Amino acid sequence: MSDATLEFLRSVVGDENVSVTLADREAHSLDESHHPPHLPDYVVWPDNEEQVSRILAYANEHRIPVTARSGGSSLDGNPIPVFGGIVLCFYRWDKILEVRPEDMLCVVQPGIVYDELNRQLARYGLMYPPAPASHDVATIGGMVNNGSGGMHAFRYGVTRDYVLQLRVVLADGRILKVGSQAAKSASGYDLVRLFVGSEGTLGIITEVTLKLRAIPEKSAALAVFPTVEDAARAASQIIAAGIIPGAMELMDAETVAFANRYCNLDLPESPMLVMEFHGTPSSVREDVEVVKEIAAECGCTLYQPATTAEERENVWRARSQAHLAVKELNRDCVVTIGDIVVPISKYPDAVKMAHALGKKYGIRVCTFGHAGDGNVHTDTIARRDVPGEPERAHQVHAELIRWAVEVGGTCTGEHGIGLGKREFLELEHGPAVAVMREIKRLFDPNGILNPGKIFLD
Ligand SMILES: Cc1cc2nc3c(=O)[nH]c(=O)nc-3n(C[C@H](O)[C@H](O)[C@H](O)COP(=O)(O)OP(=O)(O)OC[C@H]3O[C@@H](n4cnc5c(N)ncnc54)[C@H](O)[C@@H]3O)c2cc1C
Repeated sequence: MSDATLEFLRSVVGDENVSVTLADREAHSLDESHHPPHLPDYVVWPDNEEQVSRILAYANEHRIPVTARSGGSSLDGNPIPVFGGIVLCFYRWDKILEVRPEDMLCVVQPGIVYDELNRQLARYGLMYPPAPASHDVATIGGMVNNGSGGMHAFRYGVTRDYVLQLRVVLADGRILKVGSQAAKSASGYDLVRLFVGSEGTLGIITEVTLKLRAIPEKSAALAVFPTVEDAARAASQIIAAGIIPGAMELMDAETVAFANRYCNLDLPESPMLVMEFHGTPSSVREDVEVVKEIAAECGCTLYQPATTAEERENVWRARSQAHLAVKELNRDCVVTIGDIVVPISKYPDAVKMAHALGKKYGIRVCTFGHAGDGNVHTDTIARRDVPGEPERAHQVHAELIRWAVEVGGTCTGEHGIGLGKREFLELEHGPAVAVMREIKRLFDPNGILNPGKIFLD
């Protein structure tokens, strides 16, 4: 920490928008992951792009790390300032700058929360669809930088598929506008896609233009199965039958039990698929019936259309809170979440493998996830006071990731590499990692932007 830097920051954003108090530094030292916190030296709340640009130019000149932060809900240490320096906060940048229903797009500041954006868009009959389970805290800036997906991503795509244009401040303070507001473009390299999922390591996002979709007619159903493999098999057969649910989420029995306790619900404590069907009134009715037949062929023991808003709300609450439920009800343990994605035909094997590895290493495992996408989240629950247990939990994730990559999958579908998956980057991408490093050096030659993330050194 230096007096000169503090003076500089105060001169740019005003005394009240810089803090060096321990309370503020602690509040900005962590995310929702199992990774240990790390204190930043300065917490800064900039007010506009010009201020961001001046701060970055200064930080670049003085080699001060800068980590952007929005909702702080990441699951792999993505916004933890592991090298200290400045945390730049964007959660106050929560305005919708423009909605253009006729062009099906909106322009927003990066700090707006997903749910709030959709609440405002509903007035126009429009939505921004990915629906992360953290919908009530995740911001658009965080979603763009983590390349987030969610419960609706199978039908509609992930964040990457919706970002048309970005305003970005580079490490040296230059301000860029990348992309366009046209529905498609073949003009030059696609820098928008480069920034999406870059975890704040290539630039600071100050404005996002998003493509929108019309809100469809919806219906929902819950299907209960004897085993988690049956549920996963049903998911892959539903997709093979050409049905594209608006959402298709899997939870194993243990996850449902935790969600019941945490959310005060009484869902059947068996493996289940929670589905939403989107389309026209007649198409969603048809989907509910066809899926019922496929589920029955896979051994479904209870198929319950969620007809009332309350029923729908209960099952979605259980799924949205699944990870928090596991984490909060096991506070004396290290709960680590995995995020592999495999080709959909391998989905049943992925779920089976996660449980088999849990048994092999003697670790409690809960599985849930976005079944439509082939995305399995594996929560390992490791007792802190049992020597070797956290290390064995790590082995569960490591072996699962190695298997996923071997069958053509990826180590992360939506949480990003952050801190925890850096060791698998090379395994998944091989020599392409060297190219990624060159890109990083091009955008951020002094390595000030969110250092310590994505790459191992
Ligand atoms: C219970 C729970 C459920 C979850 N479910 C899902 C899910 O279904 N799908 C999913 O994808 N994720 C999920 N997540 C993870 C997380 O919520 C998402 O990754 C989310 O998009 C992060 O947004 P945030 O606003 O919290 O970002 P933060 O955690 O604040 O930041 C995320 C990353 O973006 C960078 N960043 C933030 N703002 C900027 C900016 N303006 N410019 C440059 N870089 C920036 C940060 O440095 C960091 O690297 C879940 C998390 C929890 C706790």
